[in-house]
Amino acid sequence: MPHLQDPSRRLTVAGRRVLALVVVMLVAACGGGGASPSGPDGTLRVVTTTTVFADLVEQVGGPDVTVHSLVPKGGEVHTFDPTPRGFERVARAQLLVANGLGLDDWLVKVASDTGTAAPVVSLADGVPADRLLGDEDGTPNPHLWLDVSLARLYVAQLAEALATADPAHAAAFRERATTYDRRLATLDTTIRGRLATVPAEDRKVISFHDAFPYFAQAYGLDIVGTIVAAPGQDPSAGEVAKLVDAVKTNGVAAVIAEAQFNADLVRTLADETGARVVTDLYDDTLGDPPVDTYEAMLTWDADRLTEALSD
Ligand SMILES: [Zn+2]
Repeated sequence: MPHLQDPSRRLTVAGRRVLALVVVMLVAACGGGGASPSGPDGTLRVVTTTTVFADLVEQVGGPDVTVHSLVPKGGEVHTFDPTPRGFERVARAQLLVANGLGLDDWLVKVASDTGTAAPVVSLADGVPADRLLGDEDGTPNPHLWLDVSLARLYVAQLAEALATADPAHAAAFRERATTYDRRLATLDTTIRGRLATVPAEDRKVISFHDAFPYFAQAYGLDIVGTIVAAPGQDPSAGEVAKLVDAVKTNGVAAVIAEAQFNADLVRTLADETGARVVTDLYDDTLGDPPVDTYEAMLTWDADRLTEALSD
């Protein structure tokens, strides 16, 4: 009898090993899919491309989500290269949040490389095509969230994505989204009122990268040009000379740039033209307090612009 029990025990051990392997493979295959375990305290694990979208997720998700932004605060989303740790986070996420429209399309590739089953929600998909602004060749500009009325559409889209990913908390997501949306509606009105105090002749600006067309359209700025064609592409000496001309001939009131970019080019342009300079705006990334939420960022930008253009 003992020699009969031995093979069966070996089979059991072998069976356990196979089972363990299958479990490992299943976890790997599911990645961040709905079947995978959730984050701390049973929260939904959400990974976003930027800190701005991470804040929107926190506002709507509250204590029911654990959110992480792949691009760190002060980082550059357009030229971002995800780290191995980022890949790991994407693989374990249950919902992935991007902007879309070319801003952060790298997330789709990272998600596909990890084989995750977690859905990618592109917030810009919640905005009707007729609200998009394009450049000369018709490519839509991706920075929709800098018009608060469009950020409200992001929030609505996000609430539905969270509700689908975690139906048990759907009511809480929708309730928080409604409350947040009311605050955003007020913010939209506040910013419009603030910028309205800037004299009409002082509304022409040159921006560092092309992040502000939606803000400009919503709140009444006139963007005459941009310093870089795209982040990471510094202008040539000839292009800088053209910008200097544009500033002078158009009566540009200010050159505006963001805290995450090198301000040297902005200062050169301002020195050559006498235009005012704002180098601490925020658009693609949040900053340290007091610029650590989406609402705070928009308030900050509106205040800084109003101040600079009203001097
Ligand atoms: Zn940008």
